[in-house]
Amino acid sequence: MTVELICVGTELLLGNTVNTNAAYISEKCAMLGLSMYYQSVVGDNPGRLKDLLLTAMKRSSILILSGGLGPTQDDLTKETAAEVLGKKLVEDKAARQEIEEFMKKRGRVITENNWKQALVPEGSKVLYNQNGTAPGIIMESDQVKMILLPGPPNELIPMFEEQVFPYLYELQPDIICSKMVKLCGIGESSAETKILDLIETQTNPTVAPYAKTGEVHLRITAKASSEKAAYDLIAPVETELQNRFGNLIYTDDPNVTLEDAIYELLKEYNLTVTTAESCTGGLVAGRLINVPGISQFLKEGYVTYSNEAKEKLLNVPSEILKEHGAVSPQTAEAMAVGGAKAAGTDLCIAVTGIAGPDGGTEQKPVGLVYMSCYCKGKLFTEKNQYSGSRSKIREYSVASALTLLRCAIMESVSEVNVCGS
Ligand code: ATP
Ligand code: MG
Repeated sequence: MTVELICVGTELLLGNTVNTNAAYISEKCAMLGLSMYYQSVVGDNPGRLKDLLLTAMKRSSILILSGGLGPTQDDLTKETAAEVLGKKLVEDKAARQEIEEFMKKRGRVITENNWKQALVPEGSKVLYNQNGTAPGIIMESDQVKMILLPGPPNELIPMFEEQVFPYLYELQPDIICSKMVKLCGIGESSAETKILDLIETQTNPTVAPYAKTGEVHLRITAKASSEKAAYDLIAPVETELQNRFGNLIYTDDPNVTLEDAIYELLKEYNLTVTTAESCTGGLVAGRLINVPGISQFLKEGYVTYSNEAKEKLLNVPSEILKEHGAVSPQTAEAMAVGGAKAAGTDLCIAVTGIAGPDGGTEQKPVGLVYMSCYCKGKLFTEKNQYSGSRSKIREYSVASALTLLRCAIMESVSEVNVCGS
């Protein structure tokens, strides 16, 4: 059973309207386990729509159309779809009554073209529209099922939820479940290389990598007749990913973020933390503060953008700054040690770098960022070289700093090797 989506509307082709219906319908079909191989957008042109319907019918068993069901001259989806399936349009009494009631309730005058919306292809199933006058339509022939939906999302979504979803569910009883294994401290291409065999050979479940800033997420998706059966298919693949990536995995829960995982570690080992930030200017602290309850472990953070601030607040020796410069491993380490001491915390994560666009030199180019994490007497220091805009460099720095913080906790407290793996 394959489904194909056709969105009708010249406004979509011109970019005046963002095709949110496509995103919505695709997601629902995926949830239902329906395979969708094609999507198209066509203008309000009956000739081209007809051609597209004839092509789509040959390759897909269910066609979902959105838009062009309204009362105006250019709304021709219903007429064209009926013509393609060789069905006459007949008036639907219930639809006529609904249009009448809808218009009366809103005190609107019914015009002749409103009645056009009460016409439906003979033998079709009429879908009630609670937010508008154009009813949706389901037509069935031996070859294909066509589901016609109104364009406005506030009409389409409730109609889909209440009437189309159950209809499709009956046709396709399989469901889709997925798990999201999230990794930090590894790039997308290395992650993909490690699981290329799984990506290429698995069909149910499938494994797909998604690159996020400083993280890689692997989605495992299975199709089965029940939720339990789907998760049973997922389990061995997840175990395999755990074998391959070990502690680089920080969660398998799609709702858990890297900062949430760090919060859990701080709680587990009862550790306090502070931040000492130069080029990230508080963004690392900001990420940690996304987590409710973090105030128990993060009491304060330092934004030390200037050399003076690094000396004054973090006690970074002026000789280090003079000899090695603000962007150096020595300064990053002095910031980490000084921050932990100033705040009286077990940990301090420090970041110093050149976010650009100016300020780079040959030895120290834009995007060079040092970070160091102090953890109970030990230092974990890292050099990174990023490229991209100022904001991208800062975003990547934050992700790496959080990853380093996690590594430092795991290596020094729970004594597992993460950072180097
Ligand atoms: P109406 O009765 O309002 O004419 P209709 O079913 O004929 O509805 P269209 O005329 O194609 O639908 O579109 C009406 C409005 O719905 C568009 O102006 C647009 O705002 C919105 N719309 C249409 N298609 C989409 C889509 N694919 N994604 C998001 N919005 C859409
Ligand atoms: Mg319209």
